[in-house]
Amino acid sequence: MSRADAAAAAMPEASQPIVRVTGLEKSFGPLKVLDGVSFSVMPGQMVAVVGRSGSGKSTMLRCLNGLEDIQGGTIEICGHQVGRPGSWNKAQLRSDVGMVFQSYNLFPHLTVERNITLALTLVQKKPRAEARQVALRVLDQVGLAEKAAAYPEQLSGGQQQRVAIARSLALSPQVMLFDEVTSALDPELTVEVLKVMEDLSKGGMTMILVTHEMGFARRVAHTVIFMHQGRVWETGPTAELFARPQTAEFQQFVGSVL
Ligand code: ADP
Ligand code: MG
Repeated sequence: MSRADAAAAAMPEASQPIVRVTGLEKSFGPLKVLDGVSFSVMPGQMVAVVGRSGSGKSTMLRCLNGLEDIQGGTIEICGHQVGRPGSWNKAQLRSDVGMVFQSYNLFPHLTVERNITLALTLVQKKPRAEARQVALRVLDQVGLAEKAAAYPEQLSGGQQQRVAIARSLALSPQVMLFDEVTSALDPELTVEVLKVMEDLSKGGMTMILVTHEMGFARRVAHTVIFMHQGRVWETGPTAELFARPQTAEFQQFVGSVL
């Protein structure tokens, strides 16, 4: 039984997709960037989104998290109908759907712990002591329990990115979105961040990640989505997709990155 199947079997209601995107269209002025994107994600799945620069990967993730208005189609994520006025609550969406970017944007004047507890105490109004417990738990999850009192500048880039992931986890998201979180890191620091993501996936987290780390995607992702010219050009279970590419574009892409 695969991890996704096991997760679905453990939770009866989890046999429904947790993310369902249909016919998503997004334009910036006259430029159509997403042209009918459809896919769905089951709970516990890791989906890797790959494709050339400019194919719409980041825009698609931003739409899922309600950071962009959309011009057509529907997005349903963790029960939120994103993009449809009145049917989703931004604050609730932000805690249900975590997002981590290439730039980690930690506050330099705050400790690691305070970077993590900030949203918990200010937005969620949790008592400081409770927030601290959460911070220590998520720091432990990313292997940085001993860095709670450190300042960001005292950490490596890989450690800072792990803090950014921990900060997102602190809000107890049901789905995590990652946009090229290792692109700014040296190879040895990339490995430790990929390890954290692999552990998260093994723990049952539903994740969608845009990545250039094709080896990682092939090894760990359950499903791969290849985006090309604002469309889902090719998608399927990872092993099948790489074993039998259906389109010349995907074949070329794989050839260019391996
Ligand atoms: P990817 O992440 O695959 O590299 P993006 O989603 O960043 O692709 O970009 C897709 C296209 O949308 C590109 O042509 C890009 O220039 C354009 N684009 C992205 N964001 C904006 C924006 N805020 N305003 C105008 N054009 C944008
Ligand atoms: Mg991008």
